[in-house]
Amino acid sequence: MLDTIVVGAGIAGLTAARLLHAAGQRVVVLEARDRVGGRMWTDCTAGFSVDRGASWIHGLTNNPLTDIVAELGLETVEFTVGSFQAGGRPIADHDESRQLFNEDATEQWLADVETADALFQQAISESGDDESYHVATERTLAETGWDAERADRVRVFFRHRTEEQCGADIEQVAAHALDEDAIDGEEVIFPGGYDAIPRAFAEGLDIRLGTTVTAVTRSATGVRVDTEDGPFEAAQVIVTVPLGVLKAGAIAFAPALPDAVAGPIARLGMGAFNKVFLRFPERFWPDGVYAIRQHGRPGVPWHSWYDVSAVSGEPMLLTFAGGDFAREIEDMTDEEIVASVVGALRGIHGDAVPDPVGHWITRWASDPLALGSYSYVAVGSSHDDHDAMAEPVDGVLHFAGEATYGHEPATVHGALLSGHRAAERVLGAELPLTGLTRALDPSN
Ligand SMILES: Cc1cc2nc3c(=O)[nH]c(=O)nc-3n(C[C@H](O)[C@H](O)[C@H](O)COP(=O)(O)OP(=O)(O)OC[C@H]3O[C@@H](n4cnc5c(N)ncnc54)[C@H](O)[C@@H]3O)c2cc1C
Repeated sequence: MLDTIVVGAGIAGLTAARLLHAAGQRVVVLEARDRVGGRMWTDCTAGFSVDRGASWIHGLTNNPLTDIVAELGLETVEFTVGSFQAGGRPIADHDESRQLFNEDATEQWLADVETADALFQQAISESGDDESYHVATERTLAETGWDAERADRVRVFFRHRTEEQCGADIEQVAAHALDEDAIDGEEVIFPGGYDAIPRAFAEGLDIRLGTTVTAVTRSATGVRVDTEDGPFEAAQVIVTVPLGVLKAGAIAFAPALPDAVAGPIARLGMGAFNKVFLRFPERFWPDGVYAIRQHGRPGVPWHSWYDVSAVSGEPMLLTFAGGDFAREIEDMTDEEIVASVVGALRGIHGDAVPDPVGHWITRWASDPLALGSYSYVAVGSSHDDHDAMAEPVDGVLHFAGEATYGHEPATVHGALLSGHRAAERVLGAELPLTGLTRALDPSN
């Protein structure tokens, strides 16, 4: 019998499998897709990298990915705007009449966001799980005494913040949802593609691609995992499928999951966040800016375009759709989406915007093996729900993945750390988080 079955070959599952294999266990990874990486997925069909899932390391300081990137010798480019920052790097901000901010306007804008953020923290210091980010934002803005236009610009920015960081509308997100959202150090992206990391982690592991898990049954001797290709048995199982897949009941658990785990799965939200990459025949935006941003109501729905030309070596902008709007665009054709984004850009740059010569559009909410982009703390849930999901069930069933890691949910490094935690629980021993890039001994 196997020691451990890992369901899902994303970064969480691969981390757990690698650590357990290195510790001498017999491990099999069952993955429904025909590739590893899950929500880390680099599309190289055009001859350069387009990261359709994760792009950024959100903060290099105290991040296990930093050493892994160095050990694998991966090229990175500094790009510290990945967490919807208001400033800190050159951003071409445009006001409601589509004019570029001057220096005073930029200073005022950054000061306003700082003031609003400080007041927001006060506003939520005593609020419970049932208050939404929206209600807390409105209380904050009422306290500022700002005129309508000044307050509205910050209001719209806060709305876009939950759409990008949570993949959800501001009314759906708990006021405390972004409490843990601190970025430590610079952010970077990957010219060679982010999925080089899961592909490296997969080397030497027994991974069964194209194997969809349908049921997990706990028994006195361990677990049985049913797949469309037959059953597997092991002493323990680590399930790393996305929260959206668990919420949809795509895997049947027997006996039923206890409330301590089923409750958090039901309460937490699964956000939708999609990417639209546009490749242009030539660059029409100013040199040296990290992003073009449209403020206020003219910035609804499209508002921020990130210059990712350093990744592809081509003139490319990346924009995002988050929350309900991300789900809406999944029903639109590519042509409709591109026309909508280009129209918004022409609102700022006019005829200088040429027709794009290429586009890449994601649809994560309709992907049956993701059913969303990443988890968030919905109204009525809390950060503790993330970690509660990972509490071992009957000592044989463990959950891992970004949604289970309360300190850093919705990130690659949070998912990686959740895989580490699951491996430690399977072994019942502490494991150093090192050696993930070392070659595995094929004999076990
Ligand atoms: C558009 C987008 C942008 C993002 N940007 C960033 C970013 O810049 N930086 C960052 O840190 N994070 C980002 N994230 C989040 C990050 O990608 C995830 O947190 C992380 O990759 C999740 O890893 P995981 O192992 O938990 O899950 P996954 O990578 O989803 O792995 C789970 C695996 O389970 C498989 N699976 C599902 N159902 C079954 C089944 N029934 N049987 C077998 N296998 C199954 C799936 O195919 C998948 O491979 C982004 C995510 C998205 C979608």
